[in-house]
Amino acid sequence: MIPFEELDFEDKQVLLRVDFNVPLENKKVTNDFRIRQTAPTIHKILDKGGSIILVTHIGRPKEGAEDLNLSTSTLIPTLEKTLGLPVKFKKNWIDGVRINKGEVLLCENVRFLKGETSNDSQLAKKMSKLCDIFINEAFSNSHRAHASNYGVAQFAQAKVAGPLFLSEVQALYKVVKKNESPTVAIVGGSKISTKTALIKNLSKQVDHLILGGGIANLIIKARGHQIGKSLFEKGAYEDACRLFKDIDNIVFPIDVVCASEFSKTAIGTIRPLNEIRENDLILDFGPKTLKKIVSKIQSAKTILWNGPIGVFEFDNFANGTRTIAETIAESSAFSVAGGGDTIASIEKFNVSDKISYISTAGGAFLEFLEGKKSPVISILEEN
Ligand code: AMP
Repeated sequence: MIPFEELDFEDKQVLLRVDFNVPLENKKVTNDFRIRQTAPTIHKILDKGGSIILVTHIGRPKEGAEDLNLSTSTLIPTLEKTLGLPVKFKKNWIDGVRINKGEVLLCENVRFLKGETSNDSQLAKKMSKLCDIFINEAFSNSHRAHASNYGVAQFAQAKVAGPLFLSEVQALYKVVKKNESPTVAIVGGSKISTKTALIKNLSKQVDHLILGGGIANLIIKARGHQIGKSLFEKGAYEDACRLFKDIDNIVFPIDVVCASEFSKTAIGTIRPLNEIRENDLILDFGPKTLKKIVSKIQSAKTILWNGPIGVFEFDNFANGTRTIAETIAESSAFSVAGGGDTIASIEKFNVSDKISYISTAGGAFLEFLEGKKSPVISILEEN
C-alpha cells in the first residue's frame, strides 16, 4: 500500500469512504465531530489537484430501500460550512459520476443500495469504476465488511487507508500493544453484555481496570451486596461473575451515590456498599471510590476510557464522570477515549483538547480493543 502522503492526486478522481453517520435532529446535524475530523484529508486531496466523491451511510435503512429521513443531502449545509467549499449532491450515482478537478460531490446514502451491507461484488465493482483511487477514511465503520469499504478495495486500481483511519489505528495500537506502564483502562456504560470481550481482553493488557456505570452494579452484587433497584443486567450476571473471578486487577468501588428515583431532580445520598437499601438506585460512584480511581489515573502513563461511570446527563450524578474526565485532562499520560457517550461527556466537561486522542469510532473501537482483526484493515494492507 502506497502511503497517502506519497500519492499523486493530480487530475485523479478519488472515492473517499467517510463515516458521516452523525447524530441528526429534525434533519439537522447536532454533532459534526466526524465531519470536522475528515476535513483536513479532503483539503489535502484537493490541494494536490484531485477531485472527490464522498460516500457514506447514515443510520440503518432497510437494505435497498430509500428512507428520506436518512438522505445524506441533509449533510450538505454542515459539510459546506465545515469545508468552506461548495459540495454537490448526487442521488443516483452508482452508474457513473464525473466531476471536475477541485470539486467535491456527496453521494446519496450508500445503504440505500441493494448489496451494500451484503458486500455484493457487482456493486463493489461498480463503485471501484467510479474512481482512480479508493481511500478509506471510515475507521469507525471498519468492523463491517460492506461493498463500500471492503468489496470496493478488492477491485479498485489503487486503495489506501486515509490519515484519519491510520491515526485511529495507531492510537489504539499504542494503548494496547505499545503502551507505557502503568496503564489504566476505564470501562463504563449501562451494559456489560456488549463489553464482555473488551473487558476480558483489556484485563490482560492493562495494570488497572476500572469498571463503572451499570457494569459496576454487577460487581457490587457479585461481592454480596444488595444493589436495590439499580440498573442490573440479569441475563448477563452469571457470565459476569465468572469473568470477574478470572480478573485480578479490577479497582473495586467502596461507596456509591444513590437516589430514590431516576430523575434529574433526584437528590443523591452517599452510601458505603454495605448500606445500600432496597429502594436505592445507584447512579454514580461516591467520593472514596473516586479518590482511589483518581490516584490510579494520576500515576498512569497510558489511559484508555470508554463509557461514562455514572448518569452524567443528570448534574447531581455527573460528579464521577466529570472527575474522570478532568483527571485524565490534567494528566500528562497518553490518553485515548472513544464511544458516543464518552465523547458527549468529554464535550460536556470541556476537556476535548486535553485528551491525547478521541476516537470517532464506536463499534470498531470496541472490536479493535477486543483484539479482533478487521477484514477491512486486512484488505487495505494487501498489495
Ligand atoms: P452505554 O450506552 O452502554 O455506553 O451507556 C451509557 C449510558 O449509561 C449513559 O446514558 C449513562 O447515563 C448510563 N449510566 C451510567 N451509569 C449508570 C447507572 N449507574 N445507572 C443507570 N444508567 C447509567
